[in-house]
Amino acid sequence: MHADLVIVGAGMVGSALALALEGSGLEILLVDGSPLSVRPFDRTAAFEPRVSALSEASRRILQRLHAWDGILARRSEPYREMQVWDGSGTGQIHFSAASVHAEVLGHIVENRVVQDALLERLHDSTIGLLPGARLEQLRHSGEDWLLTLADGREIRTPLLVAADGANSAVRRLAGCATREWDYLHHAIVTSVRCAKPHLATAWQRFTDDGPLAFLPLSLEGDRHWCSIVWSVTPEQAERLMALDDDGFCAALGRAFEERLGPVEKADPRLCIPLRQRHAKRYVEPGLALIGDAAHTIHPLAGQGVNLGFLDAATLAEVLLHAHERGERIADERVLSRYERRRMPHNLAMMAAMEGFERLFQTDALPLRWLRNAGLSLVDRHHEAKGVFVRQALGLSGDLPELARV
Ligand SMILES: Cc1cc2nc3c(=O)[nH]c(=O)nc-3n(C[C@H](O)[C@H](O)[C@H](O)COP(=O)(O)OP(=O)(O)OC[C@H]3O[C@@H](n4cnc5c(N)ncnc54)[C@H](O)[C@@H]3O)c2cc1C
Repeated sequence: MHADLVIVGAGMVGSALALALEGSGLEILLVDGSPLSVRPFDRTAAFEPRVSALSEASRRILQRLHAWDGILARRSEPYREMQVWDGSGTGQIHFSAASVHAEVLGHIVENRVVQDALLERLHDSTIGLLPGARLEQLRHSGEDWLLTLADGREIRTPLLVAADGANSAVRRLAGCATREWDYLHHAIVTSVRCAKPHLATAWQRFTDDGPLAFLPLSLEGDRHWCSIVWSVTPEQAERLMALDDDGFCAALGRAFEERLGPVEKADPRLCIPLRQRHAKRYVEPGLALIGDAAHTIHPLAGQGVNLGFLDAATLAEVLLHAHERGERIADERVLSRYERRRMPHNLAMMAAMEGFERLFQTDALPLRWLRNAGLSLVDRHHEAKGVFVRQALGLSGDLPELARV
């Protein structure tokens, strides 16, 4: 098999890239180890534990790729307010969409819903799909890459895009260097029902142990549901995972100061170890890394897939322009344009999250004072808050054309 461009990984980010390149005249092959089938969606079914807070920039990209309607037809919940507070102090901050004349701050969507809406579009597209295709080996063959799949099939391509997630096989097999560090934290994720409705608000409490987020969901109009992401030490994670449902709900309610009343019930929990990882380079001749294959970031900002969608939209834009001008798209000079646009943005976001995480992990009194005073100060400062809200909307910095109105 041969293609002008092979994308390994048809997750949310790889699928978005393939769709953004549709109609380019390039022969594109999207390969994934999974079956790539769209599953029937039942609106009354329990939530998937993995959800994403999609920014306005991501919504625009998905809209332009004609996948947003598929998301709305399944299940999503907009949020208009964000409430952040320091669990061991008095600092708090409140953001609202109305403050920047926006309708919403973002949407909480199950990852599976986003994935299926994209896959539905892909099945109707001219993009070549190769399901059940797990990459196992990779080597150079002249100017091309030669990919060998687990079942022995081979694919040749001059341009390979790694969209195969945090443990990217492409990144490992191509020998791309990364910087990585363990947060020494695990994230417990699940969906819970609270006694009070969520008020279309994303809630985040910073505790001494780590951040705890309650993100609004809706089950057939019942707005008492939230997706939770609870970042704790591995020992606490072990203890919390071992609790029965009643014990877990009680512990969660206490950790959240019962802002939405007692937690009444919880779905099965998932525990995910948190690592931050960043590839030292996103490109080399004939190779580009996007999404989690290029960077994984602490979930406290809910930014992982939002950064990934911006990577996909930017890389597509760079490749389309180069192709139109008759340049060789696998050329490192072409690919470097993508890296120059995305790396500073992703690094800045990761540094900010790292700083936040450290600030809230500290017991040092001056830093505790600073974070309390800082939160409350920003809360009173309209301009500074506007900057944060625009960051949350994903509408600051060098935006790809697909994320502009
Ligand atoms: C607890 C938690 C909460 C989060 N919350 C948010 C949030 O609120 N907002 C947000 O923006 N982000 C969030 N994230 C991050 C977000 O989930 C990721 O950034 C996103 O899923 C990455 O998408 P991706 O397409 O790059 O990779 P993936 O979703 O990992 O997709 C990779 C694809 O590659 C395929 N693949 C892997 N290896 C191979 C191989 N060898 N051969 C062929 N195919 C292969 C897989 O089958 C898969 O389809 C969160 C993360 C965590 C851990």
